[in-house]
Amino acid sequence: MLKEFREFAIRGNVVDLAVAVIIGGAFGKIVSSLVDNIIMPLVGLLIGGVDFKTLAITVGGAKIEYGLFIQNIVDFIIVAFVIFLIVRAINSTKKPAPAAAPTTKECPHCFTTIPLKATRCPNCTSQL
Ligand SMILES: [Zn+2]
Repeated sequence: MLKEFREFAIRGNVVDLAVAVIIGGAFGKIVSSLVDNIIMPLVGLLIGGVDFKTLAITVGGAKIEYGLFIQNIVDFIIVAFVIFLIVRAINSTKKPAPAAAPTTKECPHCFTTIPLKATRCPNCTSQL
């Protein structure tokens, strides 16, 4: 069973997944810091210093903190937009893959497609 576990743990996709989770966690901190520490104070300035987090109403004995709910929605929209911009920037730096080299050619006698290395056509038996 130990051997089986080792095979499971060192399989490429498990390691890749672990790396993705760790990088994703660290990346998430950067994005949330960008939103909380840089973008949200600017948004707060633009909307006249209103802090959503303090908005709440009291119904009977229950405190309805709808401000926190609005804050979370705004955070989500900003995070999604920032990630969209980052992904778009990364994609624009990628060059399109070069076209694969041809492996076939056309026989000059019968015009069928044959392997590039062929010295005799398999269809019309012409010497090439
Ligand atoms: Zn041919």
